[in-house]
Amino acid sequence: MPPAGGRMGGPFSRGFMTEEEKAAQPKITKDLLKRVFSYLKPYWKQLVLVLVCIAVSSTLSLYPSVLTGKILDEGIIGRNMKLLIIFIAASFGLTLLSNLIGVAEGYINTWIAQHITYDMRNQMFAHLQRMSQRFFTTNNQGDIITRMTSDISGVESVITNTFRNILSNSITLVVALIMMFQKNWILAILGICVIPLFVIPTRKAGKTRWKLTGEAQECNDEINGILNETMSVSGQLLVKLFCKEKHEYDRYVSANGRMIKLNIKERMAGRWFFVVLSTVTNIGPMILYLVGGILIMKYDSDLTPGDLTVLVALLGRTYMPVNNLLNIQVDWMRSMALFTRIFEYFDMPVEIQDAPDAVTPESTNGEVDFSHVDFSYDPERQILKDISFHLDSGHSVAIVGPSGSGKSTIINLIPRLYDVQSGEVKFGGTDVRKLSLEFLRRNVGIVSQETYLFNGTIRENLLYAKSDATEEEMIEACKKANIYDFIQSQETGLDTMVGNRGLKLSGGEKQRISIARVLLKDPALLIFDEATSALDSISESKIQEAIDPIIAERTSILIAHRLSTILAADEILVVKDGEIVERGQHKDLVKLGGVYTELYNTQFKRAGIDD
Ligand code: ATP
Repeated sequence: MPPAGGRMGGPFSRGFMTEEEKAAQPKITKDLLKRVFSYLKPYWKQLVLVLVCIAVSSTLSLYPSVLTGKILDEGIIGRNMKLLIIFIAASFGLTLLSNLIGVAEGYINTWIAQHITYDMRNQMFAHLQRMSQRFFTTNNQGDIITRMTSDISGVESVITNTFRNILSNSITLVVALIMMFQKNWILAILGICVIPLFVIPTRKAGKTRWKLTGEAQECNDEINGILNETMSVSGQLLVKLFCKEKHEYDRYVSANGRMIKLNIKERMAGRWFFVVLSTVTNIGPMILYLVGGILIMKYDSDLTPGDLTVLVALLGRTYMPVNNLLNIQVDWMRSMALFTRIFEYFDMPVEIQDAPDAVTPESTNGEVDFSHVDFSYDPERQILKDISFHLDSGHSVAIVGPSGSGKSTIINLIPRLYDVQSGEVKFGGTDVRKLSLEFLRRNVGIVSQETYLFNGTIRENLLYAKSDATEEEMIEACKKANIYDFIQSQETGLDTMVGNRGLKLSGGEKQRISIARVLLKDPALLIFDEATSALDSISESKIQEAIDPIIAERTSILIAHRLSTILAADEILVVKDGEIVERGQHKDLVKLGGVYTELYNTQFKRAGIDD
């Protein structure tokens, strides 16, 4: 969405909507307005202050125009030097005062806008953090970030520009008209009739110019597209190999030609725009002078030259507010569209949250029970079918199966990254949906396939699991995870930077750090999703050495791709197409001649460590 104010930004050309904007106009309901204003409510005192400032500074800014009349009539024509100086000084003083009040108003206004966006951002961040994994996998990360950043920043401009414009322009217009009527009602009415003479042509010229700019922009995008395609290494290769040089050249020349024509048209429209603008701004005063002159000369009106000057000056001050107020409707629509987009996110229900009667047990033994669990990410495609298994405290199961069979999905259900469709997952004997999420997630530790480390030091990454961990605890966890030797070999030890997403470390090192991290967390259930990506055999054996003793002493679930990991488990579950098709011990399964045997022959054997 273009920012409030439109793509050209000029005061006479921004009041038009693009076709997309027209199509996506929000429905402005009472509820929407109530909701928008609910964000302003906490700042009502400051808002009242802003309102007063705007009213005072808009009114004061008109007074110098009135004083011009006095300067002329009483000062110059009346030949009174003292009054002349007083009026000039007063005019200067009032302008200064009006501007100073404007500064104060700008400060309060920005302060309110910043505080509202601050509240909104925090609220949105908290809301997004409560959203389920499904939300993050289905929504584009770019969209989420746009709503958090530019959409909410747009709100700031709504408050500092749109709301402010409505107020200040309305006040200026009303006060200017009142002042005109006070001077002379005939000329005031005439002035009102003259305003459309100015507004209509300028809006029309503005619209043409705005349309042309849009077309030029599209043409420019097309040219950039051609350049991007043809000037890239692979694009040029394609052009050369298919002998398309002439074709591409013609395409470029044609777009370039259109661009030139549009540019000339646009520049000329710009010129015409200013011709119209300056002509019509001149017509208004001339009409007032003419009628004023007739009134004075033919009808003996008590109008003075000063009064006429004041009326003309005030008329000039009405053009901008009228034009701005006509644009406001578009700004207003854009602002409401912005709020609607933001509210859409706020209204997305939190799929996974604590049940009202969620419990937080004192402790848990980490036992896991799946009974008849069905699950699907999308309604059309069932992923897990009738999964049942039991994992005793202190024991371990290995889940094996072809890629995409549903292994990771099974473990996602334990810390409630997703909820089951039917059946039940129990943790420590209680349905996970009845446990508090905080308790559940504190007691389930996952070392995932794709290790995520924050950009920072190894120490910071470890402390993420336990913020009050002592140096000794961290060293012990690192030793257990078989990463301590590596850390010691680094000049800065635990304070070594891991780089963005841990990119400065190898896959194996990252995984061992994440094992150390989960050990610091010390969960009752440990889930280890073994990396499928190839690690070299040294890295692999280091990880193996790390996890073997951990598995032996903890309740754990292993998604295994290597035989050594499988052999460390007490039971093996073989998953295929979302179902547990075989279960038991390695020696029995391998003889079955089923899925496991096939996996063994094709995958585990090749993984290097045979039994
Ligand atoms: P791998 O061994 O390759 O990691 P896996 O056995 O762990 O595979 P899952 O990740 O559980 O398999 O995926 C099971 C199925 O669910 C796959 O077909 C996958 O395409 C689908 N799937 C996984 N995550 C999602 C998601 N967030 N939304 C929709 N479908 C998904």
